[in-house]
Amino acid sequence: MSDQAFYSSLQQKLDTLKGEGLFKPERVIASRQGSEVVAQDGRTLINMCANNYLGLSGDEETVQAAAAALETYGYGLSSVRFICGTQTVHKELEGALSRFLGLEDTILYAAAFDANGGVFEPLFDENDAIISDALNHASLIDGIRLCKAARYRYANNDMADLEKQLQAATDAGKRHKVIVTDGVFSMDGTIAQLDKIVALAERYGALTLVDESHASGFMGKTGRGTHEHCGVLGKIDIITGTLGKALGGAMGGFTAGRKEVIETLRQKSRPYLFSNTLAPMIAGASLAVLERISKSTELRDRLHENTAYFRREIERIGFTIKPGTHPVVPVMLFDAPVAQKFAARMFELGVLLSGFFYPVVPMGQARVRVQLSAAHTREQLDTVLKAFEQAGRELGILEA
Ligand SMILES: *Cc1c(COP(=O)(O)O)cnc(C)c1O
Repeated sequence: MSDQAFYSSLQQKLDTLKGEGLFKPERVIASRQGSEVVAQDGRTLINMCANNYLGLSGDEETVQAAAAALETYGYGLSSVRFICGTQTVHKELEGALSRFLGLEDTILYAAAFDANGGVFEPLFDENDAIISDALNHASLIDGIRLCKAARYRYANNDMADLEKQLQAATDAGKRHKVIVTDGVFSMDGTIAQLDKIVALAERYGALTLVDESHASGFMGKTGRGTHEHCGVLGKIDIITGTLGKALGGAMGGFTAGRKEVIETLRQKSRPYLFSNTLAPMIAGASLAVLERISKSTELRDRLHENTAYFRREIERIGFTIKPGTHPVVPVMLFDAPVAQKFAARMFELGVLLSGFFYPVVPMGQARVRVQLSAAHTREQLDTVLKAFEQAGRELGILEA
């Protein structure tokens, strides 16, 4: 406690963040997660910013499945997987995820952040090339940093640039090449062109790795993900993803792929070897979620109906959105202070959503991001649309 300068320099940096409007306060919720939440002050808010795509986070069936697994398997394992931390429920979930994703085997992690952090270093070295989309998630970027492979970066979703980088890696004589992308990019709701990526991978003899965190459970006809959506089921080498978004929303991550890949990760992946087992109640609830969404596409269908309705109506009112079909809907306000004021006004009107501005998104691309859920009722969406209209008029975004 003798280095006062350290603490005052931190405080200065925090003050700078606050001054720039980039400080992130935590919103405190006093209820379960859901399409409506109760704030700490007792106000009820319609929630338009959770990754709760299928509405399962606070869902009673999910909670009951977790409670049943809690009762059967206990609270935790006090162990990593390979010592004494693997229960039948973990193996069952790994099997169910493999079948759901259409791959041979799956390894569980405490988070997708860990899955991505631990997937590159055991599989690739300085002889190899990692060719990565410029807008990939922070955890992919960190995982790639931990690996000695040569790094190539292509402009977001730009297939011509991807091909250029594949050629450069080929010219450099790299042994294995792996193309790495988010299945869906969460800032724009952009869906990666996996059909084109797979075609390029085949042409250049490259592997493919896709992070399906914003896709598993609801993209594609039966919700398997972006690979199903793009018609390349069975053609992706490695899929990583989270249990913390659509698939129940607690926490946990996974990597799926060929047996040789998953076996290697079980032997060498550091976040797996040196971090505790996923809590059995999460494994049990995730298993129940997979069963539920494999039996029926009802939740997925409702999510896509809600998304189509909201996208159509918000444009009809006069707002500009990024075109697309994903439940992430960026409502463009362009100007950072306007986006900030807009989100604050929506909060007063009882709607929870988040504003994004530079440096999180490019300069002049400030926005509020809406995320639809299967749990939203039409009535809730109409209330939100009315609030958009009111705030839009008040702030001069829409004509009065
Ligand atoms: C949310 C997210 C993660 C992190 O998931 P956690 O399980 O919460 O660690 C990783 N990748 C992408 C693309 C994400 O959107």
